[in-house]
Amino acid sequence: MSERKQSKETSTRKICNFSPDSDSEELKIIANNPSYVCMACGRSAAGSEHLCKPEKMASAW
Ligand SMILES: [Zn+2]
Repeated sequence: MSERKQSKETSTRKICNFSPDSDSEELKIIANNPSYVCMACGRSAAGSEHLCKPEKMASAW
């Protein structure tokens, strides 16, 4: 488990790869106002690209 390393890589990171109790700012941003939920992990994110098995959330409200 490594803290953020000095990588220039800016590829989209999946929220599924974050530790559940991660306090990362990036995680907060991704998880803020989620529209998608991961059917594999149960995580939620604003964009489907952050999930390994994204499913659009039902907006019943
Ligand atoms: Zn997932």
